[in-house]
Amino acid sequence: MADLRTLYQEVIVDHTKCPRNFGVLEQASHHATGYNPLCGDKLSLFLEIDAADIIVDIRFIGEGCSISTASASLMTEALKGKSLAQADLLFKDFHHMLTHTDSQQTEQLGKLAVLAGVAEFPARVKCATLAWHTFEAALQNKLAPVSTE
Ligand code: ZN
Repeated sequence: MADLRTLYQEVIVDHTKCPRNFGVLEQASHHATGYNPLCGDKLSLFLEIDAADIIVDIRFIGEGCSISTASASLMTEALKGKSLAQADLLFKDFHHMLTHTDSQQTEQLGKLAVLAGVAEFPARVKCATLAWHTFEAALQNKLAPVSTE
């Protein structure tokens, strides 16, 4: 288990230092900003969702602790190409993992499982879920369609 923890820690550090999908998405169809006052984590999320409810592209900007940054980075990787229905299921599994130290549901979570250790630190759960709550907020916040005509 110690080796697995070391590996998980390395993945978190990697995503904190080099966040994936970091930046503004000019053609975003949805956008929201999230804030976790307990820790001071802030992030803005940009989504491009097509007519078939597929997350075609996803990017974020923001500042926060390593857990919030790594979680946002891992979330963008996990959600890109997924349907909104799949994203919803993934968030449920992820949230379950963070709130149960004996969670067994790591298989479908893929790389998101590196954050399983957060379950032992309840005060940090909000850091890890900030990106996901911002994702849900963005789904409610559809931008006016951009038209060139
Ligand atoms: Zn935080």
